[in-house]
Amino acid sequence: MTARPNIKSLLRDELSAQLAVWSEPAYRTDQILQWVYAKPVDSFDQMSNLPASLRQKLATHFELNAVHAVRTRNASDTTEKFLFQLHDGSLIETVLIPATPGLTTQSDRHTVCVSTQVGCAYGCKFCASGLEGVKRNLTAAEIVDEVLHVQKLSGDKVNNIVVMGMGEPLANYDELMRALTIINAPWGLGIGARKITVSTVGLVPRIRQLADEPMQLRLAVSLHGATDAVRAQIMPVNKKYPLKELLAACDYYVHTKKRLMTFEYILIAGLNDTDEQAEALGKLAGKLRAKVNLIPYNPVEGLPWQRPGPEVCRHFQHLVERHHVTTTLRTEKGTDINAACGQLRLQHERNPTRTVAEA
Ligand code: SAH
Repeated sequence: MTARPNIKSLLRDELSAQLAVWSEPAYRTDQILQWVYAKPVDSFDQMSNLPASLRQKLATHFELNAVHAVRTRNASDTTEKFLFQLHDGSLIETVLIPATPGLTTQSDRHTVCVSTQVGCAYGCKFCASGLEGVKRNLTAAEIVDEVLHVQKLSGDKVNNIVVMGMGEPLANYDELMRALTIINAPWGLGIGARKITVSTVGLVPRIRQLADEPMQLRLAVSLHGATDAVRAQIMPVNKKYPLKELLAACDYYVHTKKRLMTFEYILIAGLNDTDEQAEALGKLAGKLRAKVNLIPYNPVEGLPWQRPGPEVCRHFQHLVERHHVTTTLRTEKGTDINAACGQLRLQHERNPTRTVAEA
């Protein structure tokens, strides 16, 4: 890990303050931010409208890049998955999804799914990210740089963010909020708060804290079970924050923000795809006027779970919708590139000698 702070972790005021300490004119702040976010360059030396002395000072004080692409994979549906390496050698995944029915509207062409931790501590039984626990939180700069690098490598302007990659975003609250502030800022990436969705395993106190933030972020909660008995079987976090408390926090979010929220519900064969679960899900989502994203499970090598057949999924959807709940049955994107949470990294770490395409 490098000792220098990364410039992409700074808010505009913090950069200004540093420039003032160096007795630089105030207009340099925006010149620098332009080179970092609007027309990103790879080195401080390329910031051609800055005097050489300032470029030198910046390079001695700050890092500019926080992630480095080690591998990209294209799926036939054009979902593109990036494996990034951090300064300490850790690997994280970021996915570019050209259109995500159910998550975004038709006009949101380019969605980036970002990671917030190396690994994950929550150990959901179906998920590849948590298999080896959590290694560390990502810094704000690393989160911001995921988006910048995907933009650069793909040539697409990103206009939608889903915080649904590796890790539990609300367990890395401060760095997440700092990153989202930069991603949202007009001087940063300029992506509207309403185009940013934060997905959580259901950390109750943090959901309440998020509700009290000024930013109008969209909230998604990974439910995956509509009763404590079923949810606790696959999500250990349910023992700490059972459904009653979780739903009360969701209610607080919806009423404080005056925004609709989403429940994500993976369909796993023989586990949470019963009529009883569909009814319970319809009831609780209906009460909160929440939308439900049904996602047929994406099998993970080494784990026993399977997705139900298409008829079972459609039947489940129908039962939920009878409670006047809006649902989407997500047609899985990226299955053939192991795009489910944590899968690419897992494969890379278990088999690092396999051909790595330098991006
Ligand atoms: N920790 C956060 C965000 C990361 S996971 C959360 O739990 O919401 C993003 C979503 O992918 C979650 O809903 C998670 O349950 C889901 N997911 C994990 N593994 C999956 C798999 N194999 N197939 C389908 N969805 C999966």
